[in-house]
Amino acid sequence: MSTISVVVPCYNEAAVLDLFYERITAVAAGMPVDFEFLFIDDGSRDGTLQVIKRLREKDTRVRYVSFSRNFGKESGIFAGLENATGDYVAVMDADLQDPPELLPEMYAALTQEDFDCARTRRVDRKGEPPIRSAFARLFYRLINRISKAEIVDGARDFQLMKRKVVDAVLAMGEYNRFSKGIFGWVGYRTKWMEFENVERAAGETKWNFWSLMLYAIDGIIAFSTAPLVISSLLGMLLCLLAFVMILVIIIRTLVFGDPTSGWPSLVCILLMVSGIQLLCIGILGQYLSKTYLETKRRPLYLIREAELKERSVH
Ligand code: UDP
Ligand code: MG
Repeated sequence: MSTISVVVPCYNEAAVLDLFYERITAVAAGMPVDFEFLFIDDGSRDGTLQVIKRLREKDTRVRYVSFSRNFGKESGIFAGLENATGDYVAVMDADLQDPPELLPEMYAALTQEDFDCARTRRVDRKGEPPIRSAFARLFYRLINRISKAEIVDGARDFQLMKRKVVDAVLAMGEYNRFSKGIFGWVGYRTKWMEFENVERAAGETKWNFWSLMLYAIDGIIAFSTAPLVISSLLGMLLCLLAFVMILVIIIRTLVFGDPTSGWPSLVCILLMVSGIQLLCIGILGQYLSKTYLETKRRPLYLIREAELKERSVH
């Protein structure tokens, strides 16, 4: 019998884990496969690990990795994929925003149809502040224009993958992991499944507007070099403009003499040009700082404790 590993990144999810376990085991019971539930405790401070350990006591299919501190969801997913032993690996949020009931359908897509992974997208953004939705839409439009990786609007990390897809994702050894981009970049035959947005069952989201904004910038830096091209083009455009201005001024001086005016316009031009310069240096700096982090080759996560195998009975 084949095995599905369910990878669940958890950060302060004590309030919802029991509920999650109930729902996922109910689904698992109806499927003709073995299961492994791999919880990644991402440095939680609210007793998440205790809940996981309690689940482990009554069910040896429950396994966990507990980080030395909070490393972020991307590291959680990576650790899960690295430590999953199943033939198929599912990634799923702990907050039940990803309905486990879709799993059988996803599994069927991989076994009966010729798909390598089944991924999900939510078709609406119910329960989300309108400004956030507007910015999210803008982000997806932008990044798909400037990046080769297919980054689908509303795509969740919730998915079921065959082993080869997992290996492909693991082979991408970058430190700055933007999962949405990574899963899109590896490609493979993907079946998309849609569902309506579900609000989290308990606990609260770890995102706010500002952190989402930074996340979006990270995504653009990680999967596109268009900002660099744009800043070079901007530089060229300004040079051209300056050249035309020089000609205009020389001709004007020769024709009309040399009245010393134009101080305000000079200040405006100075401000604009130095602003654009700073902006471009900033863009360059973003790429440089990411490169700097990549070259350090720091581990993506550190394990404080883990239980990954079935415990032998003494
Ligand atoms: N998560 C994590 N580490 C973090 C932040 C979040 O492992 O630093 C997990 C969290 O426990 C949840 C999932 O990532 O299972 C999604 O988090 P959240 O619900 O806050 O995000 P949203 O669904 O609002 O995008
Ligand atoms: Mg959530």
